[in-house]
Amino acid sequence: ANSSIDAKLVLLGDMGAGKSSLVLRFVKGQFLEFQESTIGAAFFSQTLAVGDATVKFEIWDTAGQERYHSLAPMYYRGAAAAIIVYDISSSESFERAKKWVQELQKQGNPNMVRALAGNKCDLEDKRKVTTEEACTYAEENGLFFLETSAKTVINVNDIFYEIARRLPRA
Ligand code: GDP
Ligand code: MG
Repeated sequence: ANSSIDAKLVLLGDMGAGKSSLVLRFVKGQFLEFQESTIGAAFFSQTLAVGDATVKFEIWDTAGQERYHSLAPMYYRGAAAAIIVYDISSSESFERAKKWVQELQKQGNPNMVRALAGNKCDLEDKRKVTTEEACTYAEENGLFFLETSAKTVINVNDIFYEIARRLPRA
């Protein structure tokens, strides 16, 4: 039977990791070298057909800065899915991503589908976080893991498709 699912999805991660760029690429097929910083949070929606189901994502792109941290629960509460984003060329952003994973483990919906995105994988020569390290971390913490590039389009649609595929069917 055909089913239609509304799924709230939140992007979390350090400022500059590429959250807005991933969403912009997914929703509009665009990429900006000088993407403006997000203020508070931005909302987008996008529909995907996966098998015989239609998933309508309601996407909350959060700001990432510490000063907005207290707002984050508004966005991840009740979310069916989260993408935690770090930048493969920044160890700090990976540490920050782990903090978000911990926060979701404590406060988030336990059935939430969680993805870890190692973004900017086009910057191989600046890489600070190995694929293996992130993959092991993701496995140990029940996330699925993909390295993405909003710039070169690697794995951008794939991460949203994989989330859609894993969402519980009504
Ligand atoms: P956010 O703060 O997490 O929303 O990050 P932004 O989406 O604003 O991106 C921060 C900066 O990184 C911008 O200058 C983007 O153009 C750049 N950026 C985002 N994704 C990528 C990527 O996959 N590769 C490269 N090389 N740069 C990226
Ligand atoms: Mg942003």
